[in-house]
Formats: sequence, structure tokens, C-alpha cells
Amino acid sequence: MKILEKYTFGMGDRFARQGKAQLAAVIEAKKLGADVTPVWNKSNREHITIHTHPDSQRAAAAAAVKALGWKGSYYVDADHIGLKTVDSFLAASDFYTLDVADFTGKAADEKSVAAFVEANKKFIGKLSVPGIDQPLEITGDLIRTTAGKFLLAVQEAGKIYRYVAEKKGGDNFVTEVSIDETDAPQSPLEMLFILSAIAKEGIPAQTIAPKFTGRFNKGVDYVGDLAQFEKEFNEDVCIVAFAVQEFGLPSNLKLSIHSGSDKFSIYGPMNRAIKKHNAGLHVKTAGTTWLEEIIGLACAGGEGLKIAKEVYRRAYGRFDELCGPYSAVIDIKKEELPAPDDVDKWDEQRYAQTLRHVQSNPSYNLNFRQLVHVGYKVAAEMGDRYYKALEDNEKVVARNVTENLLERHIRKIFV
Ligand SMILES: [Zn+2]
Repeated sequence: MKILEKYTFGMGDRFARQGKAQLAAVIEAKKLGADVTPVWNKSNREHITIHTHPDSQRAAAAAAVKALGWKGSYYVDADHIGLKTVDSFLAASDFYTLDVADFTGKAADEKSVAAFVEANKKFIGKLSVPGIDQPLEITGDLIRTTAGKFLLAVQEAGKIYRYVAEKKGGDNFVTEVSIDETDAPQSPLEMLFILSAIAKEGIPAQTIAPKFTGRFNKGVDYVGDLAQFEKEFNEDVCIVAFAVQEFGLPSNLKLSIHSGSDKFSIYGPMNRAIKKHNAGLHVKTAGTTWLEEIIGLACAGGEGLKIAKEVYRRAYGRFDELCGPYSAVIDIKKEELPAPDDVDKWDEQRYAQTLRHVQSNPSYNLNFRQLVHVGYKVAAEMGDRYYKALEDNEKVVARNVTENLLERHIRKIFV
């Protein structure tokens, strides 16, 4: 089996032009003592919006690795795929995020539920999990309810895993199971039984992506109860370690955080937890790099700034269309968005400071940032004009991309 490293960092490169700038952040992180392996992730939805094929992501990653002489391993993640969408990722990817959120909350057949309850009966009562202060209270009802919510989803993950394994060979890829795009978060106790089901299904999961308490809006900070998050996160880390021992899952199994990028206020708690428990971690980011492209273009002035302003104007005019598919993961107060006519009067710095995720800057506007975040479709429609601007301003864009990943993300999570 391909064994995923302890610390891995997922980065999205929507337009496949920032491979080198992103990898540079990982290389710099090594000098700071953080041994982080890069994973390029791009979801099917992003490929469709930008009209790209997964093979192009592999090519961009390989080119960056070659250009910078990166000798470590790296991965290309087929992010959030299911049986209907996996085929186009079979050649390019060696990391598969099996998204079975749509199958949660639907009942598996009665026979499998009964077998699952029977297999986990031994946990009924008080269960002590190393690292968690209070013993967990487990009832037969809880096991049955958890099976009702998640067993069918895990069975579906099994189908996808076996399909990919048949096509690629089971030893040639890393498997993640993701249930983060559901309505309700999963408790650490539910996680225990989800992992039990994953083991029983024979899925060699190396990462598991639950949904946590709080809101993970795209490209902006976490919104929620920080103390509750920290408690839950620590308990999940302990549950994962326990499940590895108990169910014989891969020994490097770890949590995967689908962060939606930029969750600065939970990076501290995550950093403390992985160090305290000596645990691995995978953190996925994505849209943050596209936003740095726009920041870099704005900083460049001229045509770059013009494009940045146009992206905003068009996104503003197509608010419902662009925000619709992301409604569960953005919170934009429309009345706090600047009028495009006003934005047109801004200089380079004003635009960059409004968009750049530096919360202490008085110009920063999280509503503006979220709208531009979902506006990548507008840039995709600009086609060559957008790509040419990225090329013409490669240096300033790259500087922003690298600094953002290194200083605002990797350093805070892993160093
Ligand atoms: Zn996700």
C-alpha cells in the first residue's frame, strides 16, 4: 500500500498555474522544521467549472516538482469523487477522497445493521479511550442509531474503493473517506463506529474527514465555539488512535480537515492537539490560492488590477448564480458588499487589502472575499486573457501565493 506521510497539506490550484509557488511554500516549511508532504487536490466540480481534465492537474504537479527539484513524495487527490465521477480521475490520481455524504442518513438493509450491532456489542457500557478523560457511555441504541445514519454510506465507500482498486491496484493509491459535506457534525462517538464500519468493509482508509462543529465558510475564518471545537478535535484524534488498535485499520490513519481554507482560529488548537497526541494530520485548502492570484493581479496594477475589478463586478452581478452551489459554505452579507462602481475607483493597495485575509487590516472585508472566492467561474470565462495576465505578472502572483500558504497556513498548523 502507498503509505501517506504523517503531515500532509492539500492545496488546490484551480487554474493549474501556481504549482511552483505552492511547492515553494512546502520547501520553505522544511527549513522551519515542518516536514509536510504536498497533495494537490481539485474536485470534479472545479474541473467542470474551469473546463479542465484531471490529467492537467497531474501534469501541473509533476512540472512543479521537476522545476524545483522536489525529491519528496507528492500526491494528486481526486477530491470528493463518487462512482459516477471517478472515471476521469483514474489515470491522474493516487489519492482518492471517497465522498459518501449523500448516502448518510439513509438506512442500510436490516441484515447488515443487525450484523453491525452484533459485532460492536462488546463496547456497550463504559469505554475508556486513552487520552479522553471521561469514559464514553455506549448503549445498544447508540450503535444501532449510528449504523442507521452511516452504515449505508460506508458500504458505498466500499464500492468506490473496490472499483478504484480493481482499476489501479489496491497498493497504488491512498484512500480517504469523507463525510464532511453533511448537515450535522459527527460526534467522536459516532466516529468510533464509523471507523468500525470502515474496517469491517475492508477499506484501508488512511484519512477520515468528518464534519466538525461550527461553520467552515469558504476562504474565511472559522465561525463557532472554539473551546468546543478543540475538545471535539482532541477526542477525534484519540478515537482515531484507538480505532487503529481496535479494528486493525492502517497504523497511519489520521484526520483530514476539509478546511475550506483560512480557518486561522482553529489552527492553534489543531497544532497543539497533534503535538500533544503525536498524531498525523491532513489539512485541505483550495480556494485560498485562487484568491491570491487575484490579490497578486490587483497588486500588479494595470491590466491585472483591471481584471481583478472586472471579476468582482461580474461576480456581483451574478450573485445568485455563483453563490447558489456554495450556499452551505458561504455567509455573505449583501449589504456589506461594496458597489462595483466604488471598487472601480480603488487603487492597487485598497483592492489587495480588502481581499487579503489579514483580519487586523481595517480594509479587510470578508463578504467581498467570499464573493470573489466563488467568482472563479468568471475568471475561467475570461480564458486566455486571464491566463496571460497570470503569466505577465507571475512574480508578484507567486510571491502572494507562497507567502499565504507558508505564513498564514502551514506555519500555524504544522510548525
Ligand atoms: Zn470536503
